[in-house]
Amino acid sequence: MTHSLEDARALDAADPLAGLRDEFSLPEGIIYLDGNSLGALPRATISAQRDAVERQWGADLIRSWNSNDWIGAPQRIGAKIATLIGARPHEVIVTDSVSVNLFKLIVAATRIQTGRAQILTEPGNFPTDLYTAGGAADILPDHVVHTEQAGDLVDALGPDTALMMLTHVHYKTGARHDMALLTEEAHEAGALALWDLSHSVGAIPVDLNGCEVDLAVGCGYKYLNGGPGAPAFLYVHEDLQEQLRSPLSGWMGHEAPFAFRDDYVPAPGVTRFLCGTPPVLSLLALESGIDLFADIDMGDVAAKSTALFNLFAARIEERCSGHGLELVTPRDAAHRGSHISYRHPDGWPISQALIERGVIGDFRAPDILRFGLTPLYLRFEDVWQAVEILGDILDSGVWREERFAEKAAVT
Ligand SMILES: *Cc1c(COP(=O)(O)O)cnc(C)c1O
Repeated sequence: MTHSLEDARALDAADPLAGLRDEFSLPEGIIYLDGNSLGALPRATISAQRDAVERQWGADLIRSWNSNDWIGAPQRIGAKIATLIGARPHEVIVTDSVSVNLFKLIVAATRIQTGRAQILTEPGNFPTDLYTAGGAADILPDHVVHTEQAGDLVDALGPDTALMMLTHVHYKTGARHDMALLTEEAHEAGALALWDLSHSVGAIPVDLNGCEVDLAVGCGYKYLNGGPGAPAFLYVHEDLQEQLRSPLSGWMGHEAPFAFRDDYVPAPGVTRFLCGTPPVLSLLALESGIDLFADIDMGDVAAKSTALFNLFAARIEERCSGHGLELVTPRDAAHRGSHISYRHPDGWPISQALIERGVIGDFRAPDILRFGLTPLYLRFEDVWQAVEILGDILDSGVWREERFAEKAAVT
């Protein structure tokens, strides 16, 4: 059975999330399949940022730290994210970047794991996760980063494992780890579990408390639509919070920053993982993005993600077969996130030819074409049209033209 444009439109007509698209400012003539790398701009962010700049900063000036609760933003927004990831409101805080948060949590966690020196992760994890683990291991006594293929992780857990650090959904393939199982196995071995939710949060269900996860980090500018370089978040299970100390003991993580004392005493709870003065405008942009989730059922989001994926994969088979596209993302919805990836030796020029035709996906070296399927603002019709355009490009071979060969700084 082939899927017609009418079929796609029928799916849109029945979509409980269809109305949300109007909450975003999307450019005409563009099919945006890169919301897993930089989420789209919510309309509410435009007016909220204007208010933040003109009224809160311009008119209220420094009084805003109290009167507009700038100072409470990291905890307030953290509590809103907590509802999306199955955490308690006081277990999540918004601060710094994913990379910096990883560093803080890796060092804090391994320091309480006396006698254990191994940080276990997998090869091909997101580069910043690997680099940061390496940098943390360098400053810890005798610590090493050990990488093991996904299928061998459980066997690699042992009496020397201090921390198992994994990314829930793989940024290239879209493959999803079994968080419940791996966390349980880590605990069985006496290790702590740290999950990176950058490609999960806002797109698929996450249940940190249900899986008894110890530590987590996640990204604000992908499915949460927080804007370019939005601050990230971190999660610490309530039972661990008083035991952990941030190695970046900045004044905002002090129990009384405005007492201006010489000695550092960490704040109670997750607040101790703040470091310096929070980026208020960026925090407020992230909050506008997250507020769009307030009235949404994450079950609807997950169901739409699955349906978008199924239509995309089916249409590629119908429209683009024989052109060498190899699906690398697992088909089973329980084993993947919300993007779909294909291997193709000429992925780069094909991705550039798509962008010229208004279909924005991205390319991940060496050969992955990646398409983000964002349930909040993508229509089934968009998926249908995107595959149609990809089919045109592959049939005509236009991507072989020289102008598509040149590499950009950001892919
Ligand atoms: C996007 C992403 C990051 C981003 O890290 P930053 O420090 O915020 O640049 C980290 N890890 C993973 C798995 C990601 O997908």
